[in-house]
Amino acid sequence: MLPRYLISPSFSQKKYDYCDCIIIGSGIAGLSTAIRLSEHASVKVITKSNLSESTTWYAQGGIAAAIKKPDEWKSHYEDTIIAGQGLSDSNAVSKLVKTAPKMIEDLFELGIIFDISGGEISLTTEGGHSFPRVLHAGGDATGEEIEKKLVKYSKTFSKIKFFPEYLAVDIVTFKNRVLGVLALNISENAVEIHPTENVVIASGGIGWLFELTTNPSISTGDGIAMAYRAKASIKDIEFMQFHPTVFKTNDGKLFLITEALRGEGAYLRDKNGNRFMVGAHPKAELAPRDIVVKEMVKVMKDQGIANVYLDATHVPESFLKLRFPNIIAKLKDNGLNLHTDLIKVFPAAHYLNGGIRTDLKGNTDIRGLYACGECAATGAHGANRLASNSLIEGLVFGWEISKEIIAKAGKRSDAEVENTLKQLEKIISENAKSNIGNAGKDIAASFSNASIAASGGTGDSAGAGGAGQSADVAAASQASAAVDKEKLIESLMSSFRHMMSHNVGILRDDKSLKEAQDFIVQTLENNDFYNMADKRAIELLNMLTVGSIIIKAAMLRKESRGTHQRNDYPLTDDKNWKKHIILKEDSVEFEPVK
Ligand SMILES: Cc1cc2nc3c(=O)[nH]c(=O)nc-3n(C[C@H](O)[C@H](O)[C@H](O)COP(=O)(O)OP(=O)(O)OC[C@H]3O[C@@H](n4cnc5c(N)ncnc54)[C@H](O)[C@@H]3O)c2cc1C
Repeated sequence: MLPRYLISPSFSQKKYDYCDCIIIGSGIAGLSTAIRLSEHASVKVITKSNLSESTTWYAQGGIAAAIKKPDEWKSHYEDTIIAGQGLSDSNAVSKLVKTAPKMIEDLFELGIIFDISGGEISLTTEGGHSFPRVLHAGGDATGEEIEKKLVKYSKTFSKIKFFPEYLAVDIVTFKNRVLGVLALNISENAVEIHPTENVVIASGGIGWLFELTTNPSISTGDGIAMAYRAKASIKDIEFMQFHPTVFKTNDGKLFLITEALRGEGAYLRDKNGNRFMVGAHPKAELAPRDIVVKEMVKVMKDQGIANVYLDATHVPESFLKLRFPNIIAKLKDNGLNLHTDLIKVFPAAHYLNGGIRTDLKGNTDIRGLYACGECAATGAHGANRLASNSLIEGLVFGWEISKEIIAKAGKRSDAEVENTLKQLEKIISENAKSNIGNAGKDIAASFSNASIAASGGTGDSAGAGGAGQSADVAAASQASAAVDKEKLIESLMSSFRHMMSHNVGILRDDKSLKEAQDFIVQTLENNDFYNMADKRAIELLNMLTVGSIIIKAAMLRKESRGTHQRNDYPLTDDKNWKKHIILKEDSVEFEPVK
């Protein structure tokens, strides 16, 4: 059982002033919400790396919206529902696709420049879309253009305060109501409390839980783990989408090759040169992602190969150069030419369909706690997200949240704010008295290894040894313990990610899931990383937490559907499983599809 807080709030070294809202994350969901709030409320953006580092930055293909006839929202709606394979909530999909065009107008207003062709916005098709409706920027650099402009624009508002290199650790709550955020100031190794009654979790996805992933290393599922510890509901988390076309560079890194390339005509071929998707699905290479991945896995297994081939050699070179400049450059660095070579590709963990359960206004089941973007489960994606529906979802539901918070902002009386601060103090002092979970074997040492090592040991030991040699020895041994702990954390993280890819990846079964569960239980039992002011230790605990929630849901769902495929239950079972699994720390519920 995890403790309520990974670091006891009583260890906080600094308490900030109250603000109207705290946003965790500076990707498209977090920054767009902050910008919308900025004229009405005091906002803090806490983000664990620099402001731009986010999954959003790496988005290539584009952003979906039915903006041009004959396309219309109804068609976008139908495509999204089909991709979701029976588990998309129609009200969430409806909100998403109907609001999408307005979000694109807002992006224009922010100065985002989308690609133009023939004097009009250039629209492309991706897997599962019936019309070209995906806007893109810089060819294949859509996310970079959006993130750059969001960062630039958000910095112009004095009411938004930024806390980069700050890791949100936990949401502080009392009686199911938000009181603030416990955060780690990474550079100073200091734990701090940020009081507020409104927190928006926009912390992105969980790709980093898997060994092979398209996601950057920030995607460790922190926000989902925090929400779970705060007793929020987690929905549809067994549905992890794998992207079919990922390329390994010469230095072993993974690089996504956007689906838009298949949208513009590229084929998938097996080792004999056959287009295996033809006949497998009416849309061939443009079938929804889960279907393409399933076929790829079959072909790779049957032919004993670790990859299939992406073939764009028949697409005109001049067009490729215009549309996919980043991909061409990356392949060139690796000695390949998109126009003349077949590119080896394989599937990798890409996008979490589920997450923190929200209603259509972004509310979770904790008062004052909201979620949007990839960490949220609005119900729009069901068992499989339609390509390019993710960036747009962050904008749509972030907007809804901003409306909710604006309606409340400024209405708090001084006495009410004072009351919140008093309750926060109470939580801090209560946690000082209690020994949280099995945590804190050696709280002082683990709390800040670096600062203890730097000061040459505790005041006592320095005094007893008369500084000099014994202080040096103490410092050296503290430093070496810190290095050992760091190595241990890295090694546990990499074993965990390896295990997740093998046991909880594209194909799962009861045995693989049980093994995965044992791995997590043992790792948690044998290692005590609580109360450590250490980013990697906190991320590891969050990864283990999210891993255990996925496993629980995946074991429950005894069928195969969309991005949840079980070897031991290969068929979709609408009679028993056309419903959402909702997990809380101490309960399991099933929710009908709306
Ligand atoms: C390679 C790639 C290509 C993609 N292409 C597309 C595409 O073409 N179209 C599309 O729609 N989608 C695409 N996606 C998916 C899409 O990019 C993401 O789903 C979307 O950007 C998520 O936005 P977000 O704001 O929710 O999260 P992110 O952009 O990931 O931002 C999360 C933020 O939270 C911060 N954070 C996380 N944990 C903490 C913590 N504990 N404390 C403080 N801060 C924290 C991170 O530092 C980051 O700032 C792609 C994804 C990848 C990986």
